[in-house]
Amino acid sequence: MKKDFAVIGLGRFGGSICRELSREGMEVLALDLDEDKVNEYRDIASHAVIADSTDESVLKELGFRNIDHVIVAIGDNIQASMLTTLILKEMGLKMITVKAQNDYHEKILNKIGADQVVHPERDMGKRIAHNIISNNILDYIELSDDHSVVEVKAGDKMGGRTLVDLDIRAEYGCNVVAIKRDRDVIVSPMATEEIKESDVLIVIGADKDISRFEKNLVLED
Ligand code: ATP
Repeated sequence: MKKDFAVIGLGRFGGSICRELSREGMEVLALDLDEDKVNEYRDIASHAVIADSTDESVLKELGFRNIDHVIVAIGDNIQASMLTTLILKEMGLKMITVKAQNDYHEKILNKIGADQVVHPERDMGKRIAHNIISNNILDYIELSDDHSVVEVKAGDKMGGRTLVDLDIRAEYGCNVVAIKRDRDVIVSPMATEEIKESDVLIVIGADKDISRFEKNLVLED
């Protein structure tokens, strides 16, 4: 079933979401206060409108009630971001994703009832930092304040050994949930699976455990 999206705030973040959703063939309503920004998205989004999202009557008139997922990507104006989220929540929207500018903003958005709060600069910073530490750390995704998923190259420390031999669960408290091998993905690999150097392991665990796992089995000596 096709979903309807709306993106409020067409800065770099909102703009990029709008482009990507449209490229994927989704129905997207793009909204911004700024006429130039809206003009930029006229040929990209399904509809592009100049409006103030803090005006409840405007959102109602535009039919926001029927939209499946709204992305609030207003940055600097934290007050407008919070007010918009609150109005959308009161209108009964099913799914609201909001971009937070800082931790304080994030806390309030969670209290207001945003379904998903994203912090792109902070999260991207963390992912890049992990990748800079080692070329073998391909990706890093935060699941909660203290749990993450990492995507790591097996390399020579794990290549040629089995999961039971490495004893990752007992030794580090982390779980290898999948192994990517060429074009295949081995989900929930068996303990007897022999890892190849070129394999990519998807590992889940508490941050402190992941750090120990990375230090001992991923980082180059
Ligand atoms: P980015 O980093 O993604 O470029 P930013 O964090 O700098 O964005 P801003 O440029 O402050 O974010 O805001 C994003 C957009 O939100 C702007 O184009 C701005 O015009 C729009 N915006 C701000 N307030 C409102 C509002 N009340 N209604 C609609 N759009 C708004």
